Amino acid sequence: MSSCITPFHFQIHHLAGKSKQQSPYVISNILAKRHHAPPTTAVFPMKRCRQAETISKAPVEVADIEDISFSGEEITKIRASLLDWYSQNRRDLPWRRISSGENDVGIEEGERRAYAVWVSEVMLQQTRVQTVVDYFNRWMEKWPTIRHLAQASIEEVNEMWAGLGYYRRAKFLLEGAKMIVESGDEFPKTASSLQKVRGIGNYTAGAIASIAFQEAVPVVDGNVVRVITRLKAISANPKNSTTVKNIWKLATQLVDPSRPGDFNQSVMELGATLCSVVAPSCSTCPVSFQCRALSLSKNDESVQVTDYPIKVAKAKPRHDFSAVSVVEIVEEGSLSESRYILVKRPDEGLLAGLWEFPSVSLKGEADLSSRRKTVDSFLKQSFGLDVKKSCKLAVREEVGVCVHVFSHIRLKMYVELLVFHLSEGGMDFLLKEQGNATMKWKCVDGKALSSLGLTSGVRKVYTMVEKFKQSGTNSVPVKTRKKRSVKNH
Ligand code: SF4
Repeated sequence: MSSCITPFHFQIHHLAGKSKQQSPYVISNILAKRHHAPPTTAVFPMKRCRQAETISKAPVEVADIEDISFSGEEITKIRASLLDWYSQNRRDLPWRRISSGENDVGIEEGERRAYAVWVSEVMLQQTRVQTVVDYFNRWMEKWPTIRHLAQASIEEVNEMWAGLGYYRRAKFLLEGAKMIVESGDEFPKTASSLQKVRGIGNYTAGAIASIAFQEAVPVVDGNVVRVITRLKAISANPKNSTTVKNIWKLATQLVDPSRPGDFNQSVMELGATLCSVVAPSCSTCPVSFQCRALSLSKNDESVQVTDYPIKVAKAKPRHDFSAVSVVEIVEEGSLSESRYILVKRPDEGLLAGLWEFPSVSLKGEADLSSRRKTVDSFLKQSFGLDVKKSCKLAVREEVGVCVHVFSHIRLKMYVELLVFHLSEGGMDFLLKEQGNATMKWKCVDGKALSSLGLTSGVRKVYTMVEKFKQSGTNSVPVKTRKKRSVKNH
């Protein structure tokens, strides 16, 4: 246990004539209590930071994050403990079945492994492992190799990705696959060459290179940040670029050159299982003897391992508003089902290239009558649907409000259902308007709509409308109805 309190490479500044005999640990405890911060954690991310001199006249220690490193003994112990633990406890996951086995494999097998790691890692950046398993299996069934994926269309990829969010990542995955296949070269094997592929950043490159090709490079994701900041009791802002850079440096020190892929997965696995955000299982942790946060918490009850990494306040999301029109078209005399209008979003920006119900951005909260005015002019201009003249508006109902939260935007959608009755042949007439439109749109029936890869926001709106219809309240045109609200958490 003594190794847990071996001094870091602290700089000690005695600014007020305090004893030089006090150990860094004692000094930091004094400071921690004074400032209600975890001890020995005054880690400033700036090189040779002197900020503390202006903050306090008391003896201050400044641990320069760039000076923090693992000792040779720590590295040996951590590698051995984590690899041993991982061998016995690793979860059986479909991508691991593909990517594990003998290291010396042929080109085809290497590519197969790399592709599986790539797909799984991009998906894992989106959501929990349990959710990813189903998505991964479906994806690999449809596109078992990178060559199959390179033939896919963005519509197919979006459909497969529906519900995972961050559709840009799926688009990059497709573009990256095309780039590799069209180059005619082998699958890039090193982290540096992988980073030249569209959409592959340093994390994904490290994961593919180490897991599929055994290159001794690290990976740093949220789980790794948590484990390393706890192992070293680092309380610098984990979002700060200097901190991130130094965590990569520490992860580079740790990665085991003989089993880099397994080692990287062991750290991520530890973070995902035992070293969790709120309730870490330190008593069963394989590296508890090397964990400085645990050691500090045992010596000072005001300190908890969950103090690391420090929590950084999230920026408040922007508030956006829109009026969403679920436009249903019924053609009189036609045996076909009614159809819904879907509009393709622009190729750049939020949810680029995805399909959604016609919607108009609002400047802020707006009352029903002003929203309807905006919607009417939009429908007329975009689809030739003139609410007042050219077609019969059989139903117009205010369905309710749906709130969808993106990473940086809170979108409040006012949802309205509009059912238009067109006379015989009216559908063909309507579809002719497509050629005149500046935006891309189409009409799909309810069955196609259910099987389409809609974003979770659009799906929520559709579910809301379906429920509304099932309640049987839309048979009579009603001007307004009590708002219903669906929230995304
Ligand atoms: S001892 Fe606890 S805090 Fe430290 S690495 Fe293990 S689980 Fe995480």
